[in-house]
Amino acid sequence: NFNGAGSVGVTLNDVFITIKTSKQFHDTRLQVILNTWFNQAREQTYIVTDDDDLELNITTNGHAINSGCGKTHELSDLSCKTGVEYDLYMKSGKKWWCHFDDDNYVNVGGLVNILRQLDWRKDVYLGRRSKLTDFKGKFLGKTVYFVFATTGAGVCISKTLAEKMEPWAGAGKFLATSRALGHADDCTIGFIITNRLKVNLTVTNLFHSHMEKLAKLDPTTLQNQVVLSHGAPDILNITSNLTNTKVFDLNADPTRFYSVHCLVHPESFFCKFAK
Ligand code: UDP
Ligand code: MN
Repeated sequence: NFNGAGSVGVTLNDVFITIKTSKQFHDTRLQVILNTWFNQAREQTYIVTDDDDLELNITTNGHAINSGCGKTHELSDLSCKTGVEYDLYMKSGKKWWCHFDDDNYVNVGGLVNILRQLDWRKDVYLGRRSKLTDFKGKFLGKTVYFVFATTGAGVCISKTLAEKMEPWAGAGKFLATSRALGHADDCTIGFIITNRLKVNLTVTNLFHSHMEKLAKLDPTTLQNQVVLSHGAPDILNITSNLTNTKVFDLNADPTRFYSVHCLVHPESFFCKFAK
């Protein structure tokens, strides 16, 4: 699917970004995002959460959406939010939908670069392939097989493909599909796309979830990665062992996102406080 042709001219403004979060993370995980990569895509990014937050809505210029979904880590609440993210995207008319979790650092420039190599007019499902490959499930009593990208590492879907997902995902149907499948939102997206629609996953290794060991990642390529997650084993070592560059200490920057942000955007004003 990487062919380059046809997407010339795709810019950040053609991308609709949604972040799934929960009220309990507004002051912690979300704050780090608001202080870093959110500023690179303020107009394009919407936060889908589960409660009202006036301050958050003021800082994001009204981009915090109370999904009305429950506040737990259970399948139904998480899939409810993903369904709301999908419906929000569909109203936007944009060429790409990218979903991220609130423990993701997104290199916004890198994200646009990767999308520019793809064609939004084709069916594109971009992400990191889950280690649980060729997943098996039951849907309406039948055994079904599918491949999925873990949403914990970020997922992007072209407009053309997103429109085809509508019968299983639109207007509340995403949650129903997820319940019928009995699997989480990332599995449900994979099921709709690779099983129902028979579209393959376009694999990227530039998206990294917190479940991935990053020991093999060359630290000097850190600023070229598109998605990094905190809590990933080794991200602490990688960022702390960097030489020839300033990073924040662990107390100031436990997620390492400020340090990573200063590698990608050294011009950010707070980078002068790194040592
Ligand atoms: N999340 C949520 N409600 C919860 C717990 C988590 O909406 O009660 C969201 C969280 O904000 C994040 C995503 O679900 O965007 C994944 O959560 P987390 O990283 O804690 O766990 P994972 O599923 O990745 O292990
Ligand atoms: Mn996570």
